[in-house]
Amino acid sequence: MSKEPNHFEISKHKDYLYVIKENISLVHPEFTNDPLNIYLLLGSQTALLLDTGCGLSPLKPIVDELIGKRKLLVFNTHYHWDHPLGNVEFGEVYIHENEVKLVSNPYDVSYFKDFTNEIVKVYAEQNFIIPPADVIKPLKDGDNFDLGEIEVEVIHCPGHSAGSICLLTSTGELFTSDVAYYGDQFLPKKEDFPIVLNSLSKLITLCKKQEIVEIYPSHSQYPCDTTLLTDLYNGIVNIQNLWNKKEPFDFFEAWVIDDKKFRYFIARG
Ligand SMILES: [Zn+2]
Repeated sequence: MSKEPNHFEISKHKDYLYVIKENISLVHPEFTNDPLNIYLLLGSQTALLLDTGCGLSPLKPIVDELIGKRKLLVFNTHYHWDHPLGNVEFGEVYIHENEVKLVSNPYDVSYFKDFTNEIVKVYAEQNFIIPPADVIKPLKDGDNFDLGEIEVEVIHCPGHSAGSICLLTSTGELFTSDVAYYGDQFLPKKEDFPIVLNSLSKLITLCKKQEIVEIYPSHSQYPCDTTLLTDLYNGIVNIQNLWNKKEPFDFFEAWVIDDKKFRYFIARG
């Protein structure tokens, strides 16, 4: 692994919340959603690490120092490469049941083979096959975890991927993973937009009901307010009206549409 000392940027956002940032554009500049936000929640008994990042530099020593004597739970928000590739450093990792299989096997990143960036050598040294954690455990919608003075609830939000999850805390944060952030959006094929919209409207309803105002996405700026969810919902609904403006974007095998608020990459399917 890279021994680059400042690979991660660590900041204490609240007494019980750290953000560990990793720049994914280091791998290739087309990955524009910097930074990836890895969140570390500190309950009185247990800490929860949300994602393990790109697997480019040791993460566990940093986490161990921040959590002190607490037990550690590790979740992946979903299986896409920038979120679970540090799993091997941790013995046991939870992910939604739809994606357990995907992260239980060695993770093939050979699509980075032609990239020339220095950091990609970390993957090349492993022949572009990144080992998994020893144990992968399933999460499902409604699962609850008590960290001691903070409880978290798992909310299944398929669309960005089949097993994407968000987390709601008893302290009033909503972690939206890659389901909602300001930046380039990766969407499934157009026929599956209702799945994405359904997940977003579930979150919008939840925020109203629980009076949640703080949203912590897995990419770019945080915290955001709930306008993020409605902006994204309305933007995706409006894609239909912009459909004749779509351009091919071969790097991601997608169509791209820009509406000034978001740039959408839509799977060609
Ligand atoms: Zn991501």
